[in-house]
Amino acid sequence: MTLHTSRTNRSDYPQGIIPMPRRQLHFAEQSLSDHGVYALNNRLQTSLEVDELIKIFTAEVQSESAVNGVLYQEPAHGIDIEIGTQCRHTLSYTLVLFDQSLGNIRFFRTSPFSESECQKLERMLTALVYPLRNAFKYMQAIQSSFIDGLTGVKNRAAFDNALHREIELAQRQGTELSIVVLDVDHFKKVNDNYGHAAGDQVLIKIAKTLEASVRRSDMVFRYGGEEFVAILSYTSEEGAKLLSNRVREQISELDVLEIDGHRVTASIGIAAMGEHDDAASIFKRCDAALYRAKHLGRNRVVSAETD
Ligand code: GH3
Ligand code: MG
Ligand code: MG
Repeated sequence: MTLHTSRTNRSDYPQGIIPMPRRQLHFAEQSLSDHGVYALNNRLQTSLEVDELIKIFTAEVQSESAVNGVLYQEPAHGIDIEIGTQCRHTLSYTLVLFDQSLGNIRFFRTSPFSESECQKLERMLTALVYPLRNAFKYMQAIQSSFIDGLTGVKNRAAFDNALHREIELAQRQGTELSIVVLDVDHFKKVNDNYGHAAGDQVLIKIAKTLEASVRRSDMVFRYGGEEFVAILSYTSEEGAKLLSNRVREQISELDVLEIDGHRVTASIGIAAMGEHDDAASIFKRCDAALYRAKHLGRNRVVSAETD
């Protein structure tokens, strides 16, 4: 088992950066009877959250040596944790375990780091990397449980969470919010005529169309079967209508199989958040609007508010 870290020991002296050679730490070389590392190891076993691990680790580092601050960054997951204060002397490590990048950690202090302090911190880092790796695995497992396996967009469980959260946020900030519910028309016939696998390909294209049409701040979900929803933050009914009609047109122009000589189309219901709305009430109104769109002949957008 090998942990390698690349280390830079830097002091903001006029002469600038003093890079130190890349070091490899072999676990076999570590004295596992080292009481401090063993105790830290046990403490780090108590959490699977990256934030919590860095907090535990920093508290332990600060109790062992005069470190003023710690900065941990892992850009792939958007993690940026800063504890304590940044000072002129820094010691930086890139953490890599079995070729998996585990981010960068930087220690700050007011006086330079000595070689023996570097070694102590490195011993402590060897206790951090495995729990950190497990925390990333856990994070990925949680994230993938909110993703729809077929289309890659978020799933219904994610929608339920997000709708509550976004409504609360919009009400607190006094901003607008609209939702869109889209259901593919006569989709059963796609499966009946061409098979389930062909139907799946149509669903993937529709999810992509919807995702490509919304803004970056909007969220798209597969609610179930051939039904998709989008949460449009900072968006009025008018804005939701414009977007929905654009999506509806794009779907009817998709290069996919035809149903009984007709193009694949979708019906869309939209609802804008009202003063007294909660997640259940806005969704109910939106679903009712979708139902009207179906009854009015499909391939259309109906608003809960004005149609
Ligand atoms: P409507 O215009 O009234 O919405 O008619 P519809 O045929 O689209 O609606 P219905 O609810 O009768 O049928 C939905 C179909 O969607 C039936 C189901 O087999 C199919 N479906 C649901 N999930 C999937 C999936 O993951 N893949 C495929 N290929 N088909 C699916
Ligand atoms: Mg349906
Ligand atoms: Mg349908």
